[in-house]
Amino acid sequence: MKIVLEHLTKKFPNRNKKVGGFVTAVSDFNIEIPDGKLIGLLGPSGCGKSTALNLICGLEKPTEGHIYFGEDDVTKLQPENRGVGLVFQNYALYPHLTVQQNITFPLENLRGKDKMTKEEMAAKALEAAKLVQIENLMERKPSEMSGGQQQRVAIARALVKRPRVLLLDEPLSNLDARLRLQTREEIRRIQRETGITTIFVTHDQEEAMSISDMIVVMKTGVLQQIGKPQEVYDDPVNLFVAKFLGNPAINVFRGEVKNGKLYIGEEEVMNVGSVSDRPVYVGIRPEGFIPDDNGALTLNLTRVEVMGRDTSVVSTHPAAESETVRSIISAEDAAGIGGETVRFFLKPYKVFLFDTETEERIQFDPEAEENIPLEAAEAAVQNTAE
Ligand code: ADP
Ligand code: MG
Repeated sequence: MKIVLEHLTKKFPNRNKKVGGFVTAVSDFNIEIPDGKLIGLLGPSGCGKSTALNLICGLEKPTEGHIYFGEDDVTKLQPENRGVGLVFQNYALYPHLTVQQNITFPLENLRGKDKMTKEEMAAKALEAAKLVQIENLMERKPSEMSGGQQQRVAIARALVKRPRVLLLDEPLSNLDARLRLQTREEIRRIQRETGITTIFVTHDQEEAMSISDMIVVMKTGVLQQIGKPQEVYDDPVNLFVAKFLGNPAINVFRGEVKNGKLYIGEEEVMNVGSVSDRPVYVGIRPEGFIPDDNGALTLNLTRVEVMGRDTSVVSTHPAAESETVRSIISAEDAAGIGGETVRFFLKPYKVFLFDTETEERIQFDPEAEENIPLEAAEAAVQNTAE
């Protein structure tokens, strides 16, 4: 089921009575979510993710705008008539009911032609339970299960009516790290198997990036960017999105463009061709550094951290916005690093420029520029390949 949000807006009276006025939790959202996809709705706490989800499922009424499921305008429909399955962070299972009873609960209230016999309900519950692999736990009470198992029950309950749309609001937040990984893979599998259009809300960029077909990044109620996870990572529209995606985070420097050259501090670090003279923020992804004795950018070396597969060079720079700069390089390259300073060439497509006022991206064509001496580039490719 395709979902279309048209000028969707939600204003709440400010909870802080002293400040008064309204809080715009969702501001003029326009998105088209394709049928059968898993969408990650991503942003920091308080940016309006839950409100957006509650508008889609009908728990909140929009101040303005429309919601369509396929061709149907569902804006005025009650939640129970929208055909949505909902899963929250805190499972919200009935503690006195068994797994079986929790899953069949949404079916008990069906009336008229939809009314089911006990046997039909049991069959539906078993089908949903099998999908989330808890069919051998049907007689347990929630208190006799792990958090991960309880969340599976909640997912089975959301699926038992075969919803048109599945909405998950931070479903993994109450699970420990290992279960979180496992359960998110499960959600991906279940979504693929059922083909139900799913919106997955999270503040965790890695979670969203790892399982979503598309991510929607929002900030203070405003949609920032929508796209495939890798595309958004590789081509962020503004500094907020660039900083929000990626772990370790992007490194941000204050820089200056003069005569088509980018300067960080006194050093000329790259050609940026067509960009006019101006101050800029320079974002450099941790994987965008090529260590080289003649490198263009000099950083003050703090330490080299070897963490399993990755070697991370931690350094500082007076023009850096953060206390430390992190570069991820190959173990081979790291072998030569030591002393007071470390020098890098920059991979042009891993470097983004932003306006210092608006923080919007400033485009330049990285392909057209000769930024890395051939020898350094070849050595880097070789080391990555090994
Ligand atoms: P998120 O889920 O991204 O953490 P929310 O959608 O819960 O964000 O909240 C977005 C904003 O709307 C916050 O500023 C929050 O305080 C405000 N808000 C949410 N619900 C209400 C409400 N019922 N009344 C007043 N303000 C609300
Ligand atoms: Mg929330």
